[in-house]
Parts: sequence; structure tokens; C-alpha cells
Amino acid sequence: MRLSKSFIKTLRDAPKDETAKSAGYLIRAGYVHKELAGVYDYLPLGLRVIENIKGIIREEINAIDGQEVLMTALQNPEPWQKTGRWSDQEVDIWFKTELSAGGELGLAPTHEEPITNMLKTYIKSYKDLPLAVYQFQTKFRNELRAKSGIMRTREFIMKDLYSFHATEEDLNAYYERVEGAYGKIYSRLGLGDCTFETFASGGIFSKFSHEYQTFIPVGEDTVYYTEDKSLVLNEEVLLDEVLDEFKVKREDLKDTRAAEVGNIFKLKFKYSEPLGLKFSDQNNQMQTVYMGCYGIGVSRLMGVIAEKFCDDKGLVWPENVAPYKYYLVSIGDQGSAKAEELYKGHEESILFDDRDARPGEKFADADLMGIPYRVVISDKTLAENSAEITDRKTGESKFVKLSDINF
Ligand code: ATP
Ligand code: MG
Repeated sequence: MRLSKSFIKTLRDAPKDETAKSAGYLIRAGYVHKELAGVYDYLPLGLRVIENIKGIIREEINAIDGQEVLMTALQNPEPWQKTGRWSDQEVDIWFKTELSAGGELGLAPTHEEPITNMLKTYIKSYKDLPLAVYQFQTKFRNELRAKSGIMRTREFIMKDLYSFHATEEDLNAYYERVEGAYGKIYSRLGLGDCTFETFASGGIFSKFSHEYQTFIPVGEDTVYYTEDKSLVLNEEVLLDEVLDEFKVKREDLKDTRAAEVGNIFKLKFKYSEPLGLKFSDQNNQMQTVYMGCYGIGVSRLMGVIAEKFCDDKGLVWPENVAPYKYYLVSIGDQGSAKAEELYKGHEESILFDDRDARPGEKFADADLMGIPYRVVISDKTLAENSAEITDRKTGESKFVKLSDINF
């Protein structure tokens, strides 16, 4: 992408009310635009990061037989009334509205009810099971306090996967496959060494659920962990009976702040029973379907990654999620001509700063945007038939022969 032709613009200031580092940088570097508290627009660079995160998740969920769909955000109250979750006492973050033809409508905060309801049309017999269906979808939650920039918003992108099984054993086996996929996802996103599967409260049908918590000071949750981090507990389950169950003592645990970047849940019959999702088994007996649900906060992850990987100059994206891999800067006429030549055919991996601006300004923007490699071509580098490549993360620069550069 050519900067001169894009509306990617860096700003001098971020809104005063943004307290999270990541939000300040994401706004200043031209990734997101703030509409109002907890409501953001994703600009070209930000959208590319979102798409990269989604791409990694999609590959790993497809690998465990997930089938992608896209459900509507508009919610018919009926299935929610059947599970008791239409009530504002039960779920206090609903955005609800009126249909002009009469009747109420909600904006989905999550999709357990509609997907369970929808699959009543398609799951009839044990032959239709197991099934795993997922989407990347916009959720709406009327959060009382929207803070932490894009880490807690009123409209956000979630990957939600739902699985359907004939037996509890099959649900348990699939849950383990999801654990495997989640481990791969967080490590491909660059968060592998700071994201841990954490025991959190369960529900009616299971004692625990699991959250994926990224250890980070701006996180809203407090988690307790053993020295080797083989056991991590959300503070909500830090009870004597739980400590006994895991054979640990309170004083042997450390605590830290963490951000919940995903969670997985064995729902069993929580939604299938009230909504009547049943199948006929091999003996023609009607049975209730076992369910699991598995979320990942896609847009929150972008905020968490931005927060984790930044320094005093700006963002420092891991290569797998960066909007572009290279930031190309030319200095002087000779440099510009060569840069044009190199850019050609690599528009997808290079952000080409072809603006009429001082090199210092371009370097500052390259740092602020956090593009992994800055490539400078000038008379000086061309004298050695080279370009100077600077690693955003380490700050190290080296001359690389033009013939060895492989964009
Ligand atoms: P939290 O405890 O942070 O409020 P939750 O337990 O309600 O989240 P889920 O309903 O399970 O979360 O949603 C799945 C994932 O979506 C979460 O793990 C989180 O990463 C993300 N998420 C939840 N709420 C928000 C929000 N308001 N803004 C951005 N991401 C969110
Ligand atoms: Mg939670």
C-alpha cells in the first residue's frame, strides 16, 4: 500500500480519556478511530490486523472440523425467553429495540440461544452428530463501563464456536481438541508464553469452565498461579475446597492481573434442554444433545497484543499479525526510483512511505505503526547495492544486498 494514496494518517494526540497505552497508540498510529466510549471504527491498518488474527483462528478451528457460518446479530426474543436470558435482571447488558411493525428485538450479546434453536432444523438423528459450527461475529453489550480501549467495548468481534454431541464422552474429547487448537492460536499470535488456561467458575452442569488469561497489568481479572504456572485459578474460584482439590496452599500461589482472551465451556444440556434440541439415537430413543461453547475475543486480542508489544516509540507487532511486514522508505531521487522498482508486485507486504516528507518524520511513523521491518533505500545504501533493514523489535540495523531481499 502506498501511503500517499491511503488515508492512513498518524495523529499527534489521542483522545484525553483514553487511559490504556494500546488505545492511545492504536488511535495515533491510524489503526482505529473512536466514535464514543466503548465504540470504535477499524481503519485500513486495524482491519488488516483483525483479519490476520481471524485468519490464524480460522485455520486452527477448521483443523478441528469447525464449519464457518455467519448468523444475524438481530435477535428474536423467543428462544431467549425459553432459557430465561431475555430478562434484563438475568442479562443486564442487552441492547434492545422495537420493530416498527411491532414487537421487540435484541442485538446479540452472544449466540447460544439462536444457534441451538437454528440447529433444531438440522439435527434429527445420531447420524447428524457430532457437529461444530463457528463464526466471527459482532456482539453488542451495553457494558456499564467501557474502558481499556478496544479491550472492553460495547460492540466487539468474537469468534464463537459451538459443538454438538450425542454423548458426554464425545463432548469431552472435542473439548480437548479445542484446548489443543487454542494453545496453537495463542502461540501463533505471539502470546504463547503469557497466556494460560485458567480454571474459572462453571455453571449448573460443570464445576469449572476454562478461561484463557493473558498476564498483563491492564487486565481486568485477577488470577492466582503456581510458580511453574501449571495451575492458574481465577480469583472467583479461589475457595478452600478448590485449593484442597488441587492440593495447593493459598500461600504458595502468586497473583497477577490478566485479560480474558477466550473461554471454553462444557454446556451439556444448559441450552439444548430448555430449547428442545434432541436427536434420535440408534435405538430410536429421543435424547438431548450435549453442547459445548468456545469463545475468543478477536478485537480484545488486538488490544492485548498492542498493549503487550509496544515501547516508548509506539506499537511493535509480532510478524503474524502485523498489517504489513515491511515499511519502505526512500531517500533522494535515486533511492525513490529504486524503491518504486522494489515495491512493484509486493503491495500486500510493503507499506510504502512515498510521501513528500522528511526522513525523520517517516521513521517516527514507521516506529509508531510498529511495522516489523523498516527498509531504507538511499544514495548511501545504493552505493553498496544494498538497503538498510531495521528490526522494529530489537532496533538493530543491517545492510542487506538488494539481490538478497525477498519481500
Ligand atoms: P468478560 O469476563 O471479560 O466480561 P465474558 O466472560 O463475558 O467476558 P464471553 O461472553 O465468554 O466473555 O465472551 C467471549 C470472549 O469475548 C471473552 O473471553 C473476551 O475475550 C471477549 N469479550 C467479552 N466481552 C467483551 C467486551 N465487552 N469487549 C471486547 N471483548 C469482549
Ligand atoms: Mg469472564
